[in-house]
Amino acid sequence: MINFLDFQPMHAQIRQEMQEVFQRVYDSYWYIQGKELDLFEKEYAQLSKTKYSIGVSNGLDALVLSLRVLGIGPGDEVIVPSNTYIATALAVSHVGATPIFVEPRMETYNINPDLIPLAITKKTKAIMPVHLYGQACEMDAIIGIAKAHNLYMVEDNAQAHLSSFKGQQTGSFGDVNGTSFYPGKNLGALGDAGAVTTNNEDLANRIKTIRNYGSAVKYYNEEIGYNNRLDELQAAFLRVKLNYLQEWTNQRKEIAQWYNEGLQLRNDLVLPYVHENADHVYHLYVVRTSNREKLQQELTEKGIQTMIHYPVPPHLQKAYKHLGYKQGDFPIAEEIARTCLSLPVWPGIQREVIKKL
Ligand SMILES: *Cc1c(COP(=O)(O)O)cnc(C)c1O
Repeated sequence: MINFLDFQPMHAQIRQEMQEVFQRVYDSYWYIQGKELDLFEKEYAQLSKTKYSIGVSNGLDALVLSLRVLGIGPGDEVIVPSNTYIATALAVSHVGATPIFVEPRMETYNINPDLIPLAITKKTKAIMPVHLYGQACEMDAIIGIAKAHNLYMVEDNAQAHLSSFKGQQTGSFGDVNGTSFYPGKNLGALGDAGAVTTNNEDLANRIKTIRNYGSAVKYYNEEIGYNNRLDELQAAFLRVKLNYLQEWTNQRKEIAQWYNEGLQLRNDLVLPYVHENADHVYHLYVVRTSNREKLQQELTEKGIQTMIHYPVPPHLQKAYKHLGYKQGDFPIAEEIARTCLSLPVWPGIQREVIKKL
């Protein structure tokens, strides 16, 4: 059986380095907010092509902190795609604001810029584009709208490390941007981790303060902060994996190409469509079919495990019942949820597996 995700090839490749890192941190006797975090933040900022990166506890916290430093809170509205992973909307809810859902394009599965202006009200404070599955959103159009309406932009870059639009890297467009290093993400820790990226020094410093109890100087607290820190061990593991991200991303793209070739004659499937100006780093390789159960069954029989990203859009989740949405309110998101299927795309997967299709 080919698992949907298998770390074995990646982790075999870096086994030695990771063990050395463990020993280095173990023997440093320093486990929180030390050298590894400082170096990781420098290295991740460099990789993201932003001035600053701030390591935090996970992707959700990265997004919450991003909204919070922009002063977004109760009474405010934030535009998010209707087909995103729930965490994007949860971040908005956690600062006390309201997520306003905007439908994606059926072709790219990314937020449709043409529909954003229709959702803007006097309460709108920010747009949160999500580079879903690894494909960059149409950032030129989204930036244009944000500027025209004087809105902040916060990218959710959890699925799109190293992706780009017209050559500019995702996670470098917004005022502040959040990303996740959940193990299964393209850059993943060995536990929970995340980061905020920004070019704004003041915002970067405030995020550093808030993530550490609101304290810049030990035992002096400037505001009511959280514990949103990223520990030394995870930062050190991520520093190793950073160096392999480009290679692993190339492998993901190659695997996607194998699927595209192998599946091109199947007219019962809709294959991923990549916008002409967007890069796609294939965090997920998602196809659509009107008969998903049958396809999933067929693939299981061929020994290939698949997953659904995501079966229920945020507006139909019980958690968002109070917003009063019903089935049919966001038909494109609902159609994607009904028909999408993700095929395994982890670095190291063998071409033979795909040939079996
Ligand atoms: C994974 C993910 C998150 C949340 O990241 P965590 O580290 O799991 O909190 C947020 N948004 C998107 C789009 C994600 O895929």
